[in-house]
Amino acid sequence: MELLFLGTSSGVPSKERNVTALAVMADNGKGWFLVDCGEATQHQVQYTHLSFHTLQAIFITHLHGDHCYGLPGFLASATMAGRTADLPFIAPRAVWNWLQATQEHTELHLSFKLQFFAVEDFTGWQNDELRLESIPLSHRVPSYACCFTEIQRPTLDAAKLQAANIPQGQIWGQLQRGQDVSYQGQTLHAADYLHYPHSARRIVVGGDNDQVQLLREVCAHAQVLVHEATYCHDVWLKVGAQVQHSSAQQVAEFAEEIGLANLVLTHFSPRYQNDASRSPSIADIEQEARAHYHGNLIVARDFARYRLAKDGQFSCLHE
Ligand SMILES: [Zn+2]
Repeated sequence: MELLFLGTSSGVPSKERNVTALAVMADNGKGWFLVDCGEATQHQVQYTHLSFHTLQAIFITHLHGDHCYGLPGFLASATMAGRTADLPFIAPRAVWNWLQATQEHTELHLSFKLQFFAVEDFTGWQNDELRLESIPLSHRVPSYACCFTEIQRPTLDAAKLQAANIPQGQIWGQLQRGQDVSYQGQTLHAADYLHYPHSARRIVVGGDNDQVQLLREVCAHAQVLVHEATYCHDVWLKVGAQVQHSSAQQVAEFAEEIGLANLVLTHFSPRYQNDASRSPSIADIEQEARAHYHGNLIVARDFARYRLAKDGQFSCLHE
């Protein structure tokens, strides 16, 4: 599984960072998922290998413009590119209503069908590679995290089947598909003959949120959490509580407490500059988080790309 950041700024873009968008890719390299679509996300996509044709689904975490104003242009470009496959679209109802009104008033006719799932009663979606789920968060408007869990393909324990003199063929096939089988008066339980080569990988991507602990349960089985750290804690004390964002310290403390292996911070207030010699800077965010978290900490940049390998190793492919 891979992550490719398309925008890491909050509120407004800066010269170095566009507003929020993140591509999540499955291992086969073919399909990708878009989490949030800030303005000009379609511009960012042009600097990557991502194709409108291989997009599997869009998930919008909440209504605020820095997370969804890019949608009309993005979808129009997908149409211009000739996409025809249906596109699952998981978002708050308010985003859907706004998007439909924009389509109607600007006569935007898409070449493909958007399959809308209201995140308010979303029960999950999956393809062959990944399962998507949502978790409600706490923000000024309803906001949701998106959880990506790998769909694992178990392998048959051939040695065990041979040792039990179970003939190859139909029975092996049924067990491989997870079906229990009656054989010579006994029931062969698929679970006894299947094994999973590694534990299922999971990446949790938060939306805007001032209560990171809401992700405690879903993060218990996650290798990676991507979460907003809009401010350092000093600024959060002045403005963060009213606008319902998180500070780097709060997210780092949570990650430390639950023993999370990999924490990726994003969605930075544009007041934090890339140049560490200026103040305040992104280096301040990083320094604050490192003081409270001792796992693998990453401070996201636009176009940075990361891979979560099957063994759980999380590494940078491109800074
Ligand atoms: Zn935001």
